[in-house]
Amino acid sequence: MPNRRDFLKTAAFATLGSGIAVSQVLAGECMPSAIHVNKYGIGGKMKMTFFPYELKLRHVFTVATYSRTTTPDVQVEIEYEGVTGYGEASMPPYLGETVESVMNFLKKVNLEQFSDPFQLEDILSYVDSLSPKDTAAKAAVDIALHDLVGKLLGAPWYKIWGLNKEKTPSTTFTIGIDTPDVVRAKTKECAGLFNILKVKLGRDNDKEMIETIRSVTDLPIAVDANQGWKDRQYALDMIHWLKEKGIVMIEQPMPKEQLDDIAWVTQQSPLLVFADESLQRLGDVAALKGAFTGINIKLMKCTGMREAWKMVTLAHALGMRVMVGCMTETSCAISAASQFSPAVDFADLDGNLLISNDRFKGVEVVNGKITLNDLPGIGVMKI
Ligand SMILES: [Mg+2]
Repeated sequence: MPNRRDFLKTAAFATLGSGIAVSQVLAGECMPSAIHVNKYGIGGKMKMTFFPYELKLRHVFTVATYSRTTTPDVQVEIEYEGVTGYGEASMPPYLGETVESVMNFLKKVNLEQFSDPFQLEDILSYVDSLSPKDTAAKAAVDIALHDLVGKLLGAPWYKIWGLNKEKTPSTTFTIGIDTPDVVRAKTKECAGLFNILKVKLGRDNDKEMIETIRSVTDLPIAVDANQGWKDRQYALDMIHWLKEKGIVMIEQPMPKEQLDDIAWVTQQSPLLVFADESLQRLGDVAALKGAFTGINIKLMKCTGMREAWKMVTLAHALGMRVMVGCMTETSCAISAASQFSPAVDFADLDGNLLISNDRFKGVEVVNGKITLNDLPGIGVMKI
């Protein structure tokens, strides 16, 4: 049963970042309105609701094996004492989760057993223990809980983490593989809106794709080879060629099974080399030191903000770089990931720009740069 001391502790923490003196709160002079307390202090139950929400893509998404116009997604809401936190799970087909698997996982989650939403560590360890995988489903709960807790504290997570919102990076925007004419037209369209572009390589027309983009813009380019190069000497030669073409980083040059080859490439690479497919969660990070310069953190792969922030901290402690990536998502998960973006070297957070039925207004791209607002929690409002 929460007692008065717990409430005072919580109220004192809530004043962090709000500019309100703790003594004022304790003296009862000024109660931050974002904290909803009942007459016994912090208490009550968390109630979680969830429903499928199909994301509609603005353009047909094509990869070698299939095309699609939608992405399956499940929206989650956690309500506590009249405050609602929002989260979501996005399930691009290649990652193995489905609307059905996410709904089945969420049905198993019983948050009503916890009386204190601030106990993120206990609650999220419990959620993680319910199954070995289901990382997107877990991320949906994690994001909603972080949104709720930030709202109860009256502060956005970038502030709770002590980050400077002026230090957010520019986001990359991906130019899809297409005919040279279409690629040139798309690149021209994006050149004024973004400061850095992203291109997926790993096919037989890699050089043509880069030359086509370079014929219309001098913007820096991030390259994702998506494990596409199988020979280490070829990969290294490509990276040297890309360096000459103004490419600034390379993601997952070779298959994750070829870690020794990747390490050989990274040691000689003139570009930063980031792990994507080689990595899922916190437990994978340490083993990648030496093989990659940095890691790409995605909320849907790593179970959410709590573990993502630990991965940022661990990577930095290991002397590694960090980038943040995404799936096709609404502004809910994109805004959640943006909260730690002041701590990363590269951001690939264009997923919400690719859909036509966003449910939220949140983080924005202004002059190409990720721009955080000061809304509490993950920084979103429902549209
Ligand atoms: Mg990637």
